[in-house]
Amino acid sequence: MPAQREPLEPLELDVDRHDPAYRRWLREAVGKVQSDANRSADTHLLAVPLPEAWGIDLYLKDESTHPTGSLKHRLARSLFLYALCNGWIRPGRPVIEASSGSTAVSEAYFAKLIGVPFVAVMARTTSRAKIALIEFHGGRCHLVDNPCEVYEAATALAAETGGHYMDQFTYAERATDWRGNNNIAESVFRQLAAERHPEPAWIVATAGTGGTSATIARYVHYTQRETGVCVADPENSAFFGGWRTGDPGVTTDRGSRIEGIGRQRVEPSFVPGAVDRMMRVPDAASIATIRVLERLLGRRTGASTGTGTWAAFRIIAEMLARGRRGSVVTLLCDPGERYLDTYYSDEWLAERGIDITPYADRLERFWVTGSLD
Ligand SMILES: *Cc1c(COP(=O)(O)O)cnc(C)c1O
Repeated sequence: MPAQREPLEPLELDVDRHDPAYRRWLREAVGKVQSDANRSADTHLLAVPLPEAWGIDLYLKDESTHPTGSLKHRLARSLFLYALCNGWIRPGRPVIEASSGSTAVSEAYFAKLIGVPFVAVMARTTSRAKIALIEFHGGRCHLVDNPCEVYEAATALAAETGGHYMDQFTYAERATDWRGNNNIAESVFRQLAAERHPEPAWIVATAGTGGTSATIARYVHYTQRETGVCVADPENSAFFGGWRTGDPGVTTDRGSRIEGIGRQRVEPSFVPGAVDRMMRVPDAASIATIRVLERLLGRRTGASTGTGTWAAFRIIAEMLARGRRGSVVTLLCDPGERYLDTYYSDEWLAERGIDITPYADRLERFWVTGSLD
């Protein structure tokens, strides 16, 4: 007997899941996120004073002035728009994120703006100030002991609650409009237009998700500029080794001490082929640099700003040695007020055996000789 055949589906089918209430909610949610952008001013490009005779200009793109205090405001806005437009965020369902802190602060803000619950999955060592900021924006913090567990814990929590795991480390590079739409790179080039060196010799970024460096590098290539793109990486980060060896499987056995940057695995949002150059920067050099920046700018910054600025100083020393003039740009990623009891505390440094004096001395000599050796 011939096997019984499944009844054939009709050739013509139509499944309509259009839900007017959800679509109304979605329109409003997207509108609220867009309105936040519309109310926001662009961030400043600060000129850092260097010795006149050098003929070299250094700029810091000040991302600390966003409504949630860091460059992660741009990322959170992009991730929310991407997830909303993909239908990944649903009314009443939580948004969940694995974060070392700053992204969660910004995402808590956008979750509140569109009225969905927010849960941040973070290492227990995350700074108190950041936890307080997430809670201020109505978010909940789910703390785990091992920083490597955040990804799995976030996935599990999303499955349990029917929520959406935002996954910045995967989606940062594609959620951001790298061709334009006033992304960080387009804004920098526009703000440099009236300067004496409008096309910088180098832009230095640091990497947490890798998204910022990917956006800057892609934009530089897309707009056919000569500008070099350098990524400065802290101790205990996998990005440098992964980039140098071409092996995306590189991992490290210890977490980064520079909050916001340096990961124990090469995150999927890091786009190594777009980057020209990488520098590994000692943590003590990053911290010595933010103390110098405090004197130069009259303000405090987070330590990742020190990592990028140390690398920018090294590039400037190299330009001086070669008799080159031009400009260099790096980022002021977040404000130092979040780190008064860490990077700005001599006790905290001493407890961790971090000695910044050799780097402070080199920075002092740099100002006189132009050499950072
Ligand atoms: C996230 C972050 C960075 C790096 O930005 P990515 O785009 O994620 O690579 C630098 N500094 C701070 C303080 C950050 O929070």
